[in-house]
Amino acid sequence: MMLYAQVHLTLPVWVQDAVDAGRAYPTDQDKVALAIELSRRNIDAGTGGPFGAAVFGPDERIVAAGVNVVLPQHTSLAHAENMAYMLAQQRLQRARLNRNEAGEQDGRYTLATSSQPCCQCYGATVWAGVDRLLIGARAEDVTALTEFDEGPLPADWVGELNRRGIEVVRDIARDNACAVLRDYGTLGGARY
Ligand SMILES: [Zn+2]
Repeated sequence: MMLYAQVHLTLPVWVQDAVDAGRAYPTDQDKVALAIELSRRNIDAGTGGPFGAAVFGPDERIVAAGVNVVLPQHTSLAHAENMAYMLAQQRLQRARLNRNEAGEQDGRYTLATSSQPCCQCYGATVWAGVDRLLIGARAEDVTALTEFDEGPLPADWVGELNRRGIEVVRDIARDNACAVLRDYGTLGGARY
């Protein structure tokens, strides 16, 4: 028997065309709008759950994008935020996005996500090396509009991130993010 020794995760091919890697996304609204657009396209294409995310660098341009590919990639970790973090870290060849090889702060990085991170993406956010977390829908929206379980979070989850130097901004285009969740919840068919 041969043990598996490698993990390979890929985004759906349509993401390349959905994202303009050359443009800047200067405002919080611009960044979350892209995350929501990715979540919408992911359900339209049938390539995963209704979640999108993207990491932005100091120049406000995209470092990496992510969508939920849990079922097609057979990986419970493959949430949108985790995909964006892992792809950004691989692109920059840094385990902490905002730290250089000497461990010094080197640029400010932002994650924008269509919905509040679940418990595993929350944990990933603590160590990913981002300075800002921008969120569309709330966890209560996710559980009200879909059958997804967001998992347990610390009671003061925003404060825990703040104490680690991560600013949290919520309810950005919340209605637009909820519309995607609602459409997915009423599809009733394939579940990702
Ligand atoms: Zn998650």
